[in-house]
Amino acid sequence: MGKRFVYADNAATTAPYPEVIDEMMPYLREKWGNPSSIHGKGEEAKAALAAYREKVASLLGCEAGEIVFTSCGTEADNHAIRGAAYANAAKGKHIITTKVEHPAVLNTCKALEKEGFRVTYLDVDGEGRVSAEDVERAICEDTVLVSVMYANNEIGTIMPVREIAAVCHAHGVLCMTDAVQAVGAVPINVRELGVDMLTASGHKIHAPKGIGLLYIEKGTRIKNLIEGGGQERGRRGGTENLPYIAAFAKALEIAVEKLPDMARVAKMRDRLIAELTKLPRTRVNGSLTHRLPGNANISFECIEGESILLLMDMAGICCSTGSACSSNSLDPSHVLLAIGLPHEVAHGSVRITLAHENTEEDVDYIIEKLTETVERLRKMSPLWKE
Ligand code: PLP
Repeated sequence: MGKRFVYADNAATTAPYPEVIDEMMPYLREKWGNPSSIHGKGEEAKAALAAYREKVASLLGCEAGEIVFTSCGTEADNHAIRGAAYANAAKGKHIITTKVEHPAVLNTCKALEKEGFRVTYLDVDGEGRVSAEDVERAICEDTVLVSVMYANNEIGTIMPVREIAAVCHAHGVLCMTDAVQAVGAVPINVRELGVDMLTASGHKIHAPKGIGLLYIEKGTRIKNLIEGGGQERGRRGGTENLPYIAAFAKALEIAVEKLPDMARVAKMRDRLIAELTKLPRTRVNGSLTHRLPGNANISFECIEGESILLLMDMAGICCSTGSACSSNSLDPSHVLLAIGLPHEVAHGSVRITLAHENTEEDVDYIIEKLTETVERLRKMSPLWKE
């Protein structure tokens, strides 16, 4: 197959849709008012903000007043966890999370440990899942918050969040889920899910980088992360980023409309996994049944993920060795170690994440080039024996 460009790193970020950019442009060019101003220009922005908040809320199955827009998924995770921890510190200082969370959650929990909170980092099984029973066993007298991601950004494993939320509520504990990778990829209705808090990020669903959200169920009291001029019903200071909120709302609308097409994406993912795991000493990481539709995470023994990435990039294919945030580090992925992979196998892992724009031809091309690359690198590897 002739050289082509294939973007298969959609868990890192996605290409903004042209319709999404069109939606935000009027708020940069003409309707640039401050929603807090009480003149016509401000009123125009205020009305638009209310309409976009309403749209986002209805797409997630909640009320507009339960949505707080943030600058990114990381801020939303920080807000939820710190906010719940500080607001409930008099009741208890124990938090439960898992070993496979995104650094936005893990490092927030680590920072809280330095402030006197106690955190349990639950082990996951070989597929990267925790069970509601694991969570229930870890709940103590002083537990105030459970934070379990909806879907893992590296291996795509989907957690039993609904069951976990039910267990939390039976024990009077708050439940938060980082759904940054899940929103737009699988159907999500926050009421049906039963969580108290949920986070999402625009740039994972074809909106620009720099916009996220936090759902806080009505009646849930958490402390603010950013104090300011009373925006977001007093829950997050800072003049609202209306252009990006418009983009986020449009992107979420499109994502929800396109959910049925995720079955096609999942079929492409399954073909990638089936073909690539035909190679010797190659395994797929994560669950085959509870998995994001676009995620294929594969380990090739005796070679380095970084070398694979470099050669794939030269062939015009963008993929990843793990989460983009940890790719500056030489340590193997904490997620792959948590599911029991030896260091050397974790090092030879590649994450391919597909989205709606990918085609069967893209998949053919990835299979062809990745197979060639793995065989070529293994020939050079002193470790390689079939
Ligand atoms: N949580 C998960 C699971 C993620 O995958 C990411 C981004 O990779 C984040 C949080 C952080 O989101 P943002 O890049 O919007 O800060």
